[in-house]
Amino acid sequence: MKGARGGGGTCRRTVRGYTERIISTVTTMGRTLSLLARLPRFEDDGITHRRDCECVRCDAGYRPTEHERAAARRRQVEQKAREQAAREATRRKERERMKLAVVDVFVDEQVRAANDQVQALRDARDRAAADERLAQLWQLRRAGLSLPEAIDEVERRAAGGTRD
Ligand SMILES: [Zn+2]
Repeated sequence: MKGARGGGGTCRRTVRGYTERIISTVTTMGRTLSLLARLPRFEDDGITHRRDCECVRCDAGYRPTEHERAAARRRQVEQKAREQAAREATRRKERERMKLAVVDVFVDEQVRAANDQVQALRDARDRAAADERLAQLWQLRRAGLSLPEAIDEVERRAAGGTRD
């Protein structure tokens, strides 16, 4: 029994504790809500208080004048124009960089194509020379020269050809 009463007492104290905490929380929330309701409302610039703003400052009569509103709007327009110009400059630079990169790639491709062409011409020339030597060898063999003799003759002619 003693234990149970003790438990009951603890329970009542706990309930009172909870209740006090709930009341305190609700009160705080109420204050927070009323504070929220009186938070400043801003124009798009995030600085100028709106005409329907009910914050403490505006209630106290420190609303922005029409002149201040006009100045704030002008500042915002100017700021937006500056940001727009900066974005355009960035885009322009990016486009120029891209153009240069494209030119680089184009030049690289032209150089590679020219190299390939030169190589193909060299290969064709080498093939033609080899064909020519084979033809000569065949001709000399048919004329009755032995293979070593024919090879010597072809090499002699080729050596003479390079001297020209
Ligand atoms: Zn205000």
